[in-house]
Parts: sequence; C-alpha cells; structure tokens
Amino acid sequence: MSSDSSSSSSPSSDPPPNGAPSASAAAREFGFETRMLHAGHVPDAETGARAVPIYQTTSYVFDDTDYAAQLFELKQYGNIYTRINNPTTAVFEERMAALSNGVGAIATASGMSAELVALMTMLEPGDEVVASSHLYGGTRTLFTHTFDKLSVDAHFVEPNDVEAWDAAITDDTKVLYAESIGNPQGSVLDFEPLVELADRHDLPLVVDNTFCTPYLCRPIDWDVPVVVQSATKFLGGHGNSIGGVIIDGGAFDFNKIDTVAEPSESYHGLEFPNTFGHQGYLMKARAETLRDTGASMSPFNAFMLIQGLETLSVRMDRHVSNAQTVAEYLEEHEMVANVAYPGLPSSPYHDLAQKYMPKGPGAIFTFELDPDAMTPRAAGETFIENLQLFSHLANVGDARSLVLHPASTTHQQLSEDEMRTSGLTPGMIRLSIGLEDTDDLLWDLDQALHAISQ
Ligand SMILES: *Cc1c(COP(=O)(O)O)cnc(C)c1O
Repeated sequence: MSSDSSSSSSPSSDPPPNGAPSASAAAREFGFETRMLHAGHVPDAETGARAVPIYQTTSYVFDDTDYAAQLFELKQYGNIYTRINNPTTAVFEERMAALSNGVGAIATASGMSAELVALMTMLEPGDEVVASSHLYGGTRTLFTHTFDKLSVDAHFVEPNDVEAWDAAITDDTKVLYAESIGNPQGSVLDFEPLVELADRHDLPLVVDNTFCTPYLCRPIDWDVPVVVQSATKFLGGHGNSIGGVIIDGGAFDFNKIDTVAEPSESYHGLEFPNTFGHQGYLMKARAETLRDTGASMSPFNAFMLIQGLETLSVRMDRHVSNAQTVAEYLEEHEMVANVAYPGLPSSPYHDLAQKYMPKGPGAIFTFELDPDAMTPRAAGETFIENLQLFSHLANVGDARSLVLHPASTTHQQLSEDEMRTSGLTPGMIRLSIGLEDTDDLLWDLDQALHAISQ
C-alpha cells in the first residue's frame, strides 16, 4: 500500500508525535485493520483533530485566477465544488481504495448511483450489457427499464454458466456485470473463469461486492477491473446513511473501451486514459458523469460511513459467526424446508465460498418454510409478523437483525418469469443477521416458526 495510510506508526517503533508519519512507517505495508483506521487521513494540521473532520462546505476559495483555471481544465487536482469532490468524502474514497486494493475510488449518493455512474461512463446508445441474472432487484430494474430508455440493452445469464456469458456477448457488448454474492439466492460468483472470459473479449467486468465488503472478499485480487458497492449496508453497518462507492483496480486498459478513450467533447478533446493512465477511467467518471448527474455523497454521510469502516472487520466476523449459527439451526428446524447459505455444506456454492471468501460468505441468506396448513406466502407473512427482534424492512447489513419477504417487496416489480430466472419463490424469506446475542436470535426465530403451526 502507498503512503496514503502512513499516518500510523509501525507497531515495532515508537509512535511519532501527533501521529505524523515516520521514515520507517512510510515504507511499511500496513495490514487491513490498520488501513480501516488510518488510510486516507492524517491528523488535521491546523487543529490537531484526530477524528476525520466534516467539511460541510459546498465550495472552496481559489488561490488565484490562474489556479482556478487550472482546476477547471483538470491540469491541477484540487477542490472545486462538493458535487465533484470534498475532503471528508475523499477520506472515505481513499480508505475504500486502500481496503479494496484499488488505485482509487469515487463515493456516490447511493449504491444505485455507484452502478449508474460506473456504467454510464462506459456506455452509449446502442451498447449492450451482459449481466448475471442473480441481481439486486433495483439493479435488475435499472438495467431492464432505465437503460432501455437510454437505448442500452441488457442480457441476463446464469452467473456461473460461462458458456452462456460467452454466447450472450456480441460486438455491441461493452461491459459484463455480476454480484460477488447474488442477491437474494446466495450464489457465490466463480470469479476466475469469468475474468478469463472478460479478458478474452477485452471487456471490463464490474462486480457488485455489497454482500461481502472488502474484508470478506476483494474482487480486485482476482483481477476484476472495477468494483461497485452499496455503502448503505455493512460498510456503514448501522442502518443510518445511504451511500455507494466505485473502486478501480487500475489494471484494465480503458483505451480498449472507445466511450472512455475517445477525446472528451466536454474537456476540449482531453483523452482521459492517455492523460491520466490508470486513473483515467475514474477521472472521467468524476469529472463528467458525477459532475453531470450530481449523484454525489454528502460529507456528513461520508463521515458516518468512515465510522463504520473503522470497525468493519470486528463487525463482519461477528455477523458471519452469528449467520453460520442461525443457518445451521434453521436447517435442522422442523418448520424449515431448506436454507440457502453458502456457509453450509449443503449449499451448491459452499466450495466457491471457501475459495473466494475464506473468512465467511457474509450474513444474508434465504430460507423456505415447510408449512402443512398454509400456502407458503401466508406462512411467510405469519412468521414475519410474529418475530420480535428481527425488524421487517427493506435493508440488509445493519447491526440489528432484519427480515424481508422478497416476493412482496424488493422483487415485487419483477414478472413471474424474471422471478423464476432470479431464483425466487413466493415463500422465500430473507434474513440479514445482526450482532445480537446468538441465543436471543435463535429464540426469536423459534417462537415465530412455532406461531405458524398454531
Ligand atoms: C442495497 C443494494 C444496492 C443498492 O444500494 P443503495 O445504497 O440502496 O442504493 C445494490 N446492490 C446490492 C447487492 C444491494 O444490496
């Protein structure tokens, strides 16, 4: 890792005063957990503030008129306007790049806008996207309906059927898209063959890593070019702030993608990959797509999300161990037909999870009820209404445990056919396991399951 995280001292030497980088610290590669706390930030030079300050400002005074002109021509990198960049948000961006092993990152207003900004930067009318069919419901509607208005076609294939991906790629295909763990089926992506296929076609593969976070899986380590995530979920981790992030691994040559490489009409013919090298794609995404869509993160949300990152590994270890215990318990329960958690040996994705997510495949999974008397849908509703600790709402990755019925909520807009190819059934229940006492979670699930049979 580069010197952007050198604010901390190496554990073997005395800490330098005020957290200033020491000579030995500059050369040291810090571990993941040190980067969670330090990457992208040194104590504030003027005030000494140790926590990341919230720069709640829209704009920044220019040194002089020359400097202002240079900023606008992208000849100097500096703060112009918070729609484009902000010092608090920049800490979140650098920290996410450092944790993901990327070369840079852009924070966005939400996970959906991370997808929009990442893909709009590559796409133009007439282009096609080939995507996994196991997607977050909002991503599916973005690709199917909003992209259709922009004359971009999306084709959906089974995530681990590489031949189906290959067959769906045409001369108009611009980008491939998948989730590291597909929502809500818990399908673990087999990165290696898909990256190999994308390479063969000179196409960027974009992976949504929301369910894993960089603590459990780093797609860039498997040569995935671009990662997007919703920061709303485990990154923030407390269910209080919407946000998203795009991370570039820096290895994909965006000169291969004409929409990114061609001279920019809005910057007097500037060629982004030629001018900025491996920062070219992100520079274009920020200076054009983020500037023009306004899908920026607020500095306050960046501050909240930085708080989340500082405890990411501690929380994720506990999320995973609680999820494993709950999944094992439900699999044995008489009222449960099946549990789809890749941490269970019964999951068809168990081996892939062990390979790509050795610390555990997250804490979100689905199960189906085995009701005698009711329809699966009615049983699902009874179960949810009787839970006491689990909150029924449309989110995942909160410190608190959550429950949802996808067929009547997040995936309600899908047609029956789309439901089927997404792997959804009417009685499927999705859980996001939180950080509560494990025994209390088991108690709550058991009493709600018994309510079905009464
Ligand atoms: C929630 C979610 C999104 C969208 O994120 P928002 O922050 O809600 O816009 C995208 N992908 C996945 C996998 C998600 O769970």
